[in-house]
Amino acid sequence: MERSTIVRVHEGLHARPATRFVKLAKGFESEVELVKDGKAVSAKSSVKLMLLAVKENQEVTVRANGADAIEAIEALIGYLENPRAGLDDEGEAGEGGPETAAAAPEAAPLAAAPTEGTPKLQGVAASEGVAIGPAFAHFPPEIEGPGRHLQASEIEGELERFRGAVASVQARMDRTLAENNLSAGDRGIVAALRDIAADDSLTGEVERLIKGGDDAISAVIAAASTIAADFSAVDDPYLNARADDVHAVGRQICLVLLGQDEVSLETIPQGAILIADDIGAWDLARAPLKRIGGVVCGHGGATSHIAIIARSHGIPAVLGLGRRVDDLRGAKVVAIDGHTGHVIVDPDEATRADFMRRVDAAAREHGGLKVFKSVTPTRADGTVIEVAANIGSLEEIEAAQEAGAMGVGLFRTELLFMRHMHLPSEDMQAETYSALARAFAPHSVIVRTLDIGGDKPIAGIEFPEEENPFLGWRGIRMCLDRPDIFKRQLRALLRAAVHGNIKVMLPMVSEIAEVTRTRALVDECAAELKAEGVPHASFDLGVMIETPAAVLIAPALAKEVAFFSIGTNDLTQYIMAADRLNPTVAKLNDVTNPAVMSAIELTAKAGVAAGIMVGMCGEAAGRPDLIPAFIGMGLTELSMSPASIQRAKKTIAAMAPER
Ligand code: PEP
Ligand code: MG
Repeated sequence: MERSTIVRVHEGLHARPATRFVKLAKGFESEVELVKDGKAVSAKSSVKLMLLAVKENQEVTVRANGADAIEAIEALIGYLENPRAGLDDEGEAGEGGPETAAAAPEAAPLAAAPTEGTPKLQGVAASEGVAIGPAFAHFPPEIEGPGRHLQASEIEGELERFRGAVASVQARMDRTLAENNLSAGDRGIVAALRDIAADDSLTGEVERLIKGGDDAISAVIAAASTIAADFSAVDDPYLNARADDVHAVGRQICLVLLGQDEVSLETIPQGAILIADDIGAWDLARAPLKRIGGVVCGHGGATSHIAIIARSHGIPAVLGLGRRVDDLRGAKVVAIDGHTGHVIVDPDEATRADFMRRVDAAAREHGGLKVFKSVTPTRADGTVIEVAANIGSLEEIEAAQEAGAMGVGLFRTELLFMRHMHLPSEDMQAETYSALARAFAPHSVIVRTLDIGGDKPIAGIEFPEEENPFLGWRGIRMCLDRPDIFKRQLRALLRAAVHGNIKVMLPMVSEIAEVTRTRALVDECAAELKAEGVPHASFDLGVMIETPAAVLIAPALAKEVAFFSIGTNDLTQYIMAADRLNPTVAKLNDVTNPAVMSAIELTAKAGVAAGIMVGMCGEAAGRPDLIPAFIGMGLTELSMSPASIQRAKKTIAAMAPER
């Protein structure tokens, strides 16, 4: 029995829809297949289903054979035609899994640490503050298969071992799903990984190899590589990115077989110093940030995204240690100074006592700043200085509000795109931006359109290999070349503007045409929404000033836009021609360099002369030593990590001569 239909699932049967489809199919006893272009695969295998690469608006056939074939076809065709009527998010939680995940282990007591010698390393001071705590090394090892050939008598036992490992990985993923603190997007990702772990394509191939005499670990590595290669070969960037998921699942199974625990950020003890060669912004954003006392990394610089996340959560960080980070692998206790960039390994008693004192003093200072939370800072002439927050996810709203943010001066939309295995839909984006607008109304929320390039690619956009990704196809350049992606974001923003005070700004602008072309697209989107009867409202359009070109054309740009927001992180790297991620040129990457300060001043002059708002959302906006100069230049909005807001308000309030 079979029926054909046109797929209406937005973006096709990728990870999450495939997971839902498989879940539905597994609810029926019948054998169920999905057929596309004459190729049939089991509808109960998400890997096979994903590899079929079914896209929106393609024709497929659902074929079922068994007692409940009619019901199966009804349900599955129903899902393909109207996916929203499918399973809800809750349905993806593990069935019957324990209610909570294992608690984090206790931190090793500081007093138990060795005290001889205090080697001091110098890195980039990336997030201020001092911290001392037990070291938590995060250097996930490469796993290699032993390549052992099994005797015939060992094969059954090895198969059992493998099945046990798969069951244990699935149980762990079920526990993660049963936790209630995952966002809907994260749940989808974990659910898709769990399905890969259970999928016949992987388990069947591993079992075949074991039966042929391969040891389980070598078999898992080989099978995962084969399936990952299949994903990589499909002509679809969404599916190409699934190759990493297959490797990740294979790795989890191997770790269980080895009797090892993954060095997971989930288990970081309270107050520990996280030490890693590199941490993806995505991994860090998902980590239990409240437990992390400090971060030390081989990679990264003061304005890398790890630094930005650390600062927004008030976590001291020293980055860019290079290979010297290896010296910390065996450390028991680490002390870090996020002001100077010093990292001290296993400090002696005196150093330890000194750090403890400074940590206490910082906590007291922090307590003293709380009174500034509800202060509305003004200039001598009564003009309000908006002290707003830089955030990148809805999870950070609370921290920003707690700090007393007067709105959002920079919402980085990249995380929204990086967090998902495919491009976020218009609906999902509209929900996110609307939630932000509502949370901060009547204050404004400045959403930056997608600012992504080849240095941090995302699933769903194919980036060319570039010699200089920072000078390449990124930010507004990429968006204007991909109106399909850009218009989806602009439509979502127009819809969200109904719910509060949304403003939109464009990153990496270097010529006026980028603004006029964007405005034309905004008008096109508004006309479409109107024709469709979808509620929407207009928004102020502004630009980030972060390229030397934008500074030099600032007077002309100011006539085209409603506001400027100076992005000092990029502006500094482009003015100084010093890569913001390269620790060897970190000294040049200095916003106080006269070249950069005069670029800021030129921008402010142009904006003030044109009567538009000039703000700043680069990290310099939160520096108490620079705030008086910026206000003197005419800036009326400063947007920063939530952790810096109260001190910035205090700084402005203390500008007595201005009053
Ligand atoms: C900047 O460049 O100053 C900025 C705020 O943007 P990002 O750090 O996200 O590049
Ligand atoms: Mg920037």
